[in-house]
Amino acid sequence: MKRTTFFFPFIFIIATLGCKNTPVTSVKRPKLVVGIVVDQMRWDFLYRYNSRYGKGGFKRLMSEGFSCENAMINYLPAYTAVGHSCIFTGSVPSINGISGNDWIEQLTGKSVYCTQDNTVQGVGVNSAEDGKMSPRNLLSTTITDELRMATNYESKVVGISLKDRAAILPAGHSPNGAFWLDDSTGRFITSSYYMQRLPYWVEDYNRQNHIEKLIANGWNTLYDGNSYTESDADEQPYEGKFAGETTTSFPHNIKEAYKIKKSSFRYTPFGNSFTLDFAKEAVMGYQLGMGASTDFLTINCASTDYVGHMFGPNSREVEDTYLRLDKDLEDFFSFLDDKVGKDNYLVFMTADHGAANAIQYMQKHGMPAEFLNSKQMLDSLNIILKQKFKVDTLVKSGMNSQVNFDMPRINRDRLDFDAIKKTTVDYLQQQPGILYAVDVSKIGVAAIPEPIKKMIINGYNFKRSGAVQVIANPGWFEGYGKTGTTHGAWYPYDTHIPLLFMGWGIRHGSSNATVHMTDIAPTISALLHIQMPNGCIGEPIQGVVNNR
Ligand SMILES: [Zn+2]
Repeated sequence: MKRTTFFFPFIFIIATLGCKNTPVTSVKRPKLVVGIVVDQMRWDFLYRYNSRYGKGGFKRLMSEGFSCENAMINYLPAYTAVGHSCIFTGSVPSINGISGNDWIEQLTGKSVYCTQDNTVQGVGVNSAEDGKMSPRNLLSTTITDELRMATNYESKVVGISLKDRAAILPAGHSPNGAFWLDDSTGRFITSSYYMQRLPYWVEDYNRQNHIEKLIANGWNTLYDGNSYTESDADEQPYEGKFAGETTTSFPHNIKEAYKIKKSSFRYTPFGNSFTLDFAKEAVMGYQLGMGASTDFLTINCASTDYVGHMFGPNSREVEDTYLRLDKDLEDFFSFLDDKVGKDNYLVFMTADHGAANAIQYMQKHGMPAEFLNSKQMLDSLNIILKQKFKVDTLVKSGMNSQVNFDMPRINRDRLDFDAIKKTTVDYLQQQPGILYAVDVSKIGVAAIPEPIKKMIINGYNFKRSGAVQVIANPGWFEGYGKTGTTHGAWYPYDTHIPLLFMGWGIRHGSSNATVHMTDIAPTISALLHIQMPNGCIGEPIQGVVNNR
């Protein structure tokens, strides 16, 4: 009794002092939330190219906004669809179901693309086969869905990207629109999941041949080529080539490459210019941030990813792409200041994943890195499994760094799945470049460091993930063409992402406290005073919500 009376007022005082962010009596929200996901942007790119960023782009986010300097992805695999789903659901593949860009339905063996939906039709497409996309495979709500529900669908939500998945998944299940690029026509398209025909302003935009204008002068460096001191020399064996080119150096003849292969456009910084230009049209077309309710625009700048995949992070092409994106962002923020009003909009900028350094770049400097040959490895594994279990091709694929078994066959013939997995793990663990192979159902007892274990579990969806997870050595990855780079692993180069909030009362600051990608959606929820998405496992970031 005595102890209670002593401690109670003490605890009360601490609780009162510690609670800076008191509940509000009248709900205040920004007019517009803009979520910008820079595809494949590593956190260190904020600093690496910093000296040549202008005042109004990345540096404005850093000087006016709040930077979470240690934002980490907390699941596997670090791929585009998974990242976008996590950012906007606050959840992980285990719960939200987006376990890769592609996956194999384990019970049927069917291959699935994350946003493929054959029950819908493309809208604005030339071929009936194109644009059959929707968010139906996403199992939980997004922050954009929650905003729509919280305002009784008065809020408008729009998703934009060159990539279908990066427009569709962030915009959630009930947006006003999601638009992505159709390479064959150079037009922004959508699907009948959203609408029966394109809005007039999209059709109008599509008629203006923006791509031809953007590539009219080819792609040369923004500044003198020799001033690209953050990058390697221009001609490198680890860089890819555009269609029709014989070297990997500037200037790139994009006009010619585009003639040969339409998708070449994506592999230029002008893809980001095109996306942000179209985003402006969407703001005006839907009058985003100009109504009574809070609207939400999601933008994925995908070209950083395409250029990164082709040339690797140490190329002049990547440096030039970030310097140009910086200018495009400056222009876009000025546009928002003008049309929506400075402090009326809240921006957050992050990435869906990072990227490894190119393997040949690493090797040139004596760093540990090597190409994995998973096809050869899995072929040998199938021979061993056949000898033991008398069945052909028990392993179907190594997709998403998981061993995907022939589950229909294993279930039908009642094969000893535990024994098959054990043989698989025993074999793979002994292969060069494999750090761990683990039967996920036995991960509790596996000798794997806790942080990696947690990421494997978060990333594992029983119906959509392969049953054995493989972790390659640091710096090792599958390199089909031996050029460029990729991402997907747990390593910091793939999972340490930028995360900045700016505008609408966000105070300038930064924190080195570790936060996770799953914390982004609940932070936005807290700022907007709306329910967090229904699969959310993250927490509001205190530095951001308390710093207002
Ligand atoms: Zn991506």
